Amino acid sequence: MKLLMFRHDGESRLGALRPGHEHEVVDLSEVAPDLLAVIDAGERGLEHARKVAANANRGLPLKDVTLLPPIESPRGNVIAMGRNYQKHAEETATNGDIKPPTIFTKAITSITGPYDDIEIDPSVSNQLDWEVELGVVIGKRGANIARRDAMNHVFGYFVLNDVSARDIQNGWGGQYFKGKSLDRSCPTGPWVVTKDEAPGPGNLALRLTLNGVIKQEGNTADMIHPIDAIIEWASKGMTLLPGALIATGTPDGVGFARKPPEYLKVGDVMETEVEGIGALRNQMVAAKVGARLADHSHRRT
Ligand code: MG
Repeated sequence: MKLLMFRHDGESRLGALRPGHEHEVVDLSEVAPDLLAVIDAGERGLEHARKVAANANRGLPLKDVTLLPPIESPRGNVIAMGRNYQKHAEETATNGDIKPPTIFTKAITSITGPYDDIEIDPSVSNQLDWEVELGVVIGKRGANIARRDAMNHVFGYFVLNDVSARDIQNGWGGQYFKGKSLDRSCPTGPWVVTKDEAPGPGNLALRLTLNGVIKQEGNTADMIHPIDAIIEWASKGMTLLPGALIATGTPDGVGFARKPPEYLKVGDVMETEVEGIGALRNQMVAAKVGARLADHSHRRT
């Protein structure tokens, strides 16, 4: 099932693409208010959602609804992998020094919708960059999860663009957190594909185009630490909650590693795609970063 959140009459609602008619959205608000509630309801909740989606005779045209982030307020910061693809680790090497994968987090306030504009504010950053990634939604709580059990903790998959402010990422001692956490800089979605319906996550093509030009092309088969290993490591001595999100890393082709470096400009359009999961489309706009979050009507906090 492809579960999503959409805006209807000024409210955010749970929905799903109608099975067999994926140009339509079925309203699932009778099942649950949002995806976190479906995850919390376990297999029974998912079964209920499946039944309502399958029995719907028609839905709203997908092109007419505004899609929201599938999980706007995940349980905890987004857990993210850095340098998890070999060629990307190589392209980011300084003085030939290839660093191993790392783990960091992104503030939940960085999350935005699949087709939302992303703000550029030169007083905040002049070096915004792109990163196509496969996102993982955790479905079951766990700590010290063994690698062989790890995939049982996965609820589903989505597409994520880990837009990064390189000047901030490398400022103040080079800690990733703030450079990866600007407000509404991280598009997610367009939906969460549940694990039962998703293609095997170990061999999916990833692609990012900028204004129609391919910048990144990779495959999840090239992850240094695959999803089960990430879950094992991330959960070591640290509980992963249902509704937590993981960004699994990006392949090579990011802007700052290009010669000369390339950064996002006002008017640029990024299309960010993971095979069998979906595609995001986001335009860069000039705006004051941080000004919109507080009055964002569908945010519940
Ligand atoms: Mg990344």
